[in-house]
Amino acid sequence: MRTVVYPGSFDPLTNGHLDVIERAARLFDRVIVAVAQNTEKHPLFTPEERCALVVGATRRLRNVETRAFDGLLVDYVRGCGAQAVIRGLRAVSDFEFEFQMALMNRKLDERVETIFMMPKDTYTFLSSRLVKEIARLGGDVRDFVPGNVGKALAGKNGVRQTALPKRK
Ligand code: ADP
Repeated sequence: MRTVVYPGSFDPLTNGHLDVIERAARLFDRVIVAVAQNTEKHPLFTPEERCALVVGATRRLRNVETRAFDGLLVDYVRGCGAQAVIRGLRAVSDFEFEFQMALMNRKLDERVETIFMMPKDTYTFLSSRLVKEIARLGGDVRDFVPGNVGKALAGKNGVRQTALPKRK
């Protein structure tokens, strides 16, 4: 049984994250999306909300499960019986930080491999930060996030409410 952990803040889940999850689900027997509880990024959504959004968007993927996680990633990965960590790479700008983190995790536990996956090219410009900014200013984020995430963003305090055109 090949299990992989995909960790992140997912504040909120975007179509870029979902693309990586779908790719991982085709390669591995089991994918655990590990939603970081404590993040220094001052998240818009609570850990419970972020988990619920991932659960809602991945329901059709039978071998994907979502869990909240805290603590040292390598310990968590071993505790899940997983062999690897998935991270997404959008552009060269992601590389330096991700490379450093992957090597540090290997130093902490050399049995845990890090695998990088590139999303579909149309998602390479997508980030949770930009999606939140666009939603806050009343822009249309429906091309960037799953439907349940779009609804949750629209319901958040501080997000400008605008009537969006009906979809064809
Ligand atoms: P973190 O706070 O750990 O960076 P994020 O939720 O921002 O968490 O991202 C989790 C992982 O998903 C990271 O590896 C990040 O590079 C990747 N990722 C974020 N956005 C995209 C995207 N649009 N396409 C592919 N991977 C992405």
